[in-house]
Amino acid sequence: MTKTQEFVDLEDRLGAHNYAPLDIVLTRGEGAWVWDVEGRKFLDCLASYSAVNQGHCHPKIVDTLVEQSRKLALVSRAFRTDQLALFYRDLTELTGFERVLPMNTGAEAVETAIKAARKWAYTVKGVPTDQAEILVFDENFHGRTTTIVGFSSEEQYRSGFGPFAPGFTLLPYGDADAVAQAMNPNVAAILIEPIQGEGGIIIPPAGYLARLREITREHNSLLVLDEIQSGLGRTGKMFAYEHEGIRPDMVILGKALSGGLYPVSAVVADNEIMDVFSPGDHGSTYGGNPVAAAVARTALEVLVEEGMVENSAKLGDHMAERLAGMPADFIKEIRVKGLWAGIELHPEAGGARRFCEALAAEGILCKETHEHVIRIAPPLVITREELDWALDMVEKVLVGVGVEAASAG
Ligand SMILES: *Cc1c(COP(=O)(O)O)cnc(C)c1O
Repeated sequence: MTKTQEFVDLEDRLGAHNYAPLDIVLTRGEGAWVWDVEGRKFLDCLASYSAVNQGHCHPKIVDTLVEQSRKLALVSRAFRTDQLALFYRDLTELTGFERVLPMNTGAEAVETAIKAARKWAYTVKGVPTDQAEILVFDENFHGRTTTIVGFSSEEQYRSGFGPFAPGFTLLPYGDADAVAQAMNPNVAAILIEPIQGEGGIIIPPAGYLARLREITREHNSLLVLDEIQSGLGRTGKMFAYEHEGIRPDMVILGKALSGGLYPVSAVVADNEIMDVFSPGDHGSTYGGNPVAAAVARTALEVLVEEGMVENSAKLGDHMAERLAGMPADFIKEIRVKGLWAGIELHPEAGGARRFCEALAAEGILCKETHEHVIRIAPPLVITREELDWALDMVEKVLVGVGVEAASAG
């Protein structure tokens, strides 16, 4: 039996079956590359859903993790730490928002934003108790807690997990008029991804976010952006909302906030909103611990210092150009923003997974999303040569697997 098979068997026998990973067992990573237990090398074109924008095991972030772990790792928020204060300084400087609330996972940060929006609605806007409404969107992905899956439009995410929390209204994504119509005095906030990553790299029409900004201002509601996947350079700007020149009221960050070294998430907002929290309202044992704070500081530092956002913009344009020239038989639509691409295939192509499996055989790791979309999202440290090689393989597979699919169908 191969080593791979041994680990696959062990994992499948002992772990809950809540994922369907490709049968490749990884053991090491560096930059845009990962290696499996057989010694095979792959170019990572998923980047842990944008958590490793800074590349695998970035040496500076690793050093920070090791050094800070040796010094002080956890005190809980009963006491203060130097690193947390410095993290607040760095993140407010980077984002231009006045306050930070640190958590660990993305879902927790989304929950935090929901709590902030609701409490703001009751204490500042004057919404009657327990009547606050939050507008959310079809194909959203904000995490896996029971509250969050309760407002998912994906049947599988919800099925079997109810009853769910009320107070959320689902609207079509990309349709600003639908939002304008749904507005009423109880709307605390709009919670939205500037680009829907899990939804299949869905890019809303130009001007959409700017319209939502206007509508929320008119109705005294908050615009809350989930930039957990779109933020920190993925789209070629530090934050995806910069493409529309707007300033939201709250931004939710996670994933690349730690460069993949540690779970770190945060919500940023101005005083008017953050000041709704009083001591005891909200918290987390590990949230904002000194290791998390130090790791996040270095993760942000290398993102800026090493020009990763600029690389994302530049190589993203190159990727868009090359994808536009791909053999088109099986392609329904190609959507690209920065180093983030969704290649949507026609249903006759037989699903994106087979293409991802063929890419893995060529040494490229990526993941299908929503059955028919091949998602390409490499670490932002990828070079032009590496990207070109990956795109050569995408082209090869689109032809090869495409032909198989056609003859099978
Ligand atoms: C990944 C993701 C989340 C959830 O983050 P977790 O760390 O997995 O809880 C929330 N929103 C978006 C847009 C995401 O991509």
